[in-house]
Amino acid sequence: RTVYVNGDYLPEAEATVSIFDRGFLMADGVYEVTSVLGGKLIDFAGHAKRLERSLNELDMKKPACFDDLLEVHRELVRLNAIDEGLIYLQITRGSDGDRDFVFPDPDTTEPTVVLFTQSKPGLADSAQSRTGTKIISIEDIRWGRRDIKTVQLLYPSMGKMMAKKAGCDDAWLVEDGHVTEGTSNNAYIVKGGKIITRQLSNDILHGITRAAVLRFAREAQMEIEERSFTIEEAQAADEAFTTSASAFVMPVVEIDGVVLGDGTPGPVAKRLREIYLDESVKSAI
Ligand code: PLP
Repeated sequence: RTVYVNGDYLPEAEATVSIFDRGFLMADGVYEVTSVLGGKLIDFAGHAKRLERSLNELDMKKPACFDDLLEVHRELVRLNAIDEGLIYLQITRGSDGDRDFVFPDPDTTEPTVVLFTQSKPGLADSAQSRTGTKIISIEDIRWGRRDIKTVQLLYPSMGKMMAKKAGCDDAWLVEDGHVTEGTSNNAYIVKGGKIITRQLSNDILHGITRAAVLRFAREAQMEIEERSFTIEEAQAADEAFTTSASAFVMPVVEIDGVVLGDGTPGPVAKRLREIYLDESVKSAI
């Protein structure tokens, strides 16, 4: 693979970052994952806008290459001949060559920018989207600024492991009795044709896919309610699904051992996945 590090395109084995980088020492960094379908970027503008917001919220300066990031994404797609896959982008606060809780002087410290591609043939036509996923619920013990897309992914990663140990695919996080979101996706239920998903706040990541899917659902005259819901309500729902840039719309067929409907992906999730893929490929750049 050819990767991008701080202005250079390099073979992955030659790409290096300082051991003092605050991303490495303190998870002081933000990221984005953009999907690639047919060699084109899905919703790049949405990801770039959220990235800028994440940087602002953490008082992190924009890297010099910020305005070139679209070109960098495209160049990596070209160099690695990606047809279907993902592009991972990470920006950390960098380092001034030591470890300190105090932020280094932004006038003399450059952020570290890393991008790499992941080829994923069959991403759009995934086997999992045809069978659906099984979910466990776990307590949400993450920090209070989940609206910022930071690289602090240890607990979501542990949640995924807990799900795997339980013979499931993923976990939904529950706080004060209500589902916040999935480990790496936004969570939805469908009842009586109505799509229910948690309202935006600092408690969840403002999914780029969520925004697009809700827009397409509204355009298709589907009813939407943005409010929190419990695991019990989800277990009694007609169907459930998640959204993310890397898995699009993913049907959920089981929650904490309770099978939803007939245990196969529901019609609303299937339709939204189709619409999302059609529409976002049309506007891919
Ligand atoms: N929520 C969390 C915690 C995530 O990590 C992600 C994606 O990584 C999402 C939601 C979905 O966001 P997006 O649709 O922008 O990928």
